[in-house]
Amino acid sequence: MLFTSYIELSKSALNNNISYLKGIAGKKVKYSMVIKANAYGHGIEDLLPMIEACGVDHFSVFSVEEARRALKVKKEFCHIMIMGFIDDDYLEWAIQNDISFFVFTPERLDAVCSVSKKTSKPARIHIELETGMHRTGFSEDQLPGVIEKLKNNKGNIVLEGVCSHMAGAENMANFERINKQITTFNRLVKFIKSEGLKPKYRHIACSAGVLNFPGSSFDLVRIGISNYGFWPGNETKMLLLKNGKIPKDPLMQVLSWKTKVMSINNVKEDEYVSYGTSFLTNRNSKIATVPVGYGYGFSRNLSNLGHVLINGKRVPVIGSVNMNMMVVDVTDLPNVQVNDEVVLIGKQGDKMISISSFSDMNNSMNYELLTRLPSRIPRYIVD
Ligand SMILES: *Cc1c(COP(=O)(O)O)cnc(C)c1O
Repeated sequence: MLFTSYIELSKSALNNNISYLKGIAGKKVKYSMVIKANAYGHGIEDLLPMIEACGVDHFSVFSVEEARRALKVKKEFCHIMIMGFIDDDYLEWAIQNDISFFVFTPERLDAVCSVSKKTSKPARIHIELETGMHRTGFSEDQLPGVIEKLKNNKGNIVLEGVCSHMAGAENMANFERINKQITTFNRLVKFIKSEGLKPKYRHIACSAGVLNFPGSSFDLVRIGISNYGFWPGNETKMLLLKNGKIPKDPLMQVLSWKTKVMSINNVKEDEYVSYGTSFLTNRNSKIATVPVGYGYGFSRNLSNLGHVLINGKRVPVIGSVNMNMMVVDVTDLPNVQVNDEVVLIGKQGDKMISISSFSDMNNSMNYELLTRLPSRIPRYIVD
């Protein structure tokens, strides 16, 4: 192996998750899979054809760079939507490549109006509405101006959608805020329609929206994290389990992260391991080094906290996670050998390290840990 670790992507897990989520979102609803941030660390180029094979033909990205990568590997009939940043220099490129995009500022709308007059294709835009998140989107008092510009540019701009984003639908503490957002969204959409505009898609729901707010799917859903087999938060999972809506966890992790034991050494009792003094052996120990460290996306916060799987057993990370390697305690593995498989995320035998347990320890979220996985680690597709 050329690299020090590798990632496996499971076709059956992805298919399982997408089928489950499509069922919840509803048959008539357009299903857009969010593949921003290198497909949540999974790898856009590797994962996109797998997603297409599951019957998804709509992809949401944040940036032009991600859209370009998706465009290179996607099938002809699949569509890409940019939800975030586009430099004015790339508006023409997006329009000519049939890429739809969010518009959330008067500046972007003006730029689209002028650029789309010169392109051979119309701009396909989604007007983002401010409904209570207070991040991006047009406020109610800006809407009449937006509507007027859209009416004046009917030939060169197609209003493909109106949308908004929920401000934390994964936590019950935000229940009222999200419900208010949905009410506001409905009111603003009604106003836009009353002005004679006919957006094809109304959309506001992310994973937690679809799972926690039935009825929020509207015409299109933008689902990210749950496709990859992760809950947007533990509360969401607990609520569904508690209400008997699901018998057991219906999601399966798509990604596994693996490497090999690099070396094995014996250390006497009362010796410090690795840099500094954060770990002192309390017995004669056998230690293994693993060639993955924070430089490869394994958080330094997991020093003396994380676990990995070797020989079907869970063993602790001891001492600090270094840039390129970490040390684990294998004293209790009598048969461990150099080159044995090490699982950093995923299953080995009947044991599992989920990134969720990994991130609880580390006080950080699934989203962040996943997206830290370097894109240069090779990806292999497995059943
Ligand atoms: C990231 C994102 C989503 C998807 O969110 P998940 O929680 O991963 O499902 C949807 N919409 C927008 C605008 C986003 O930025």
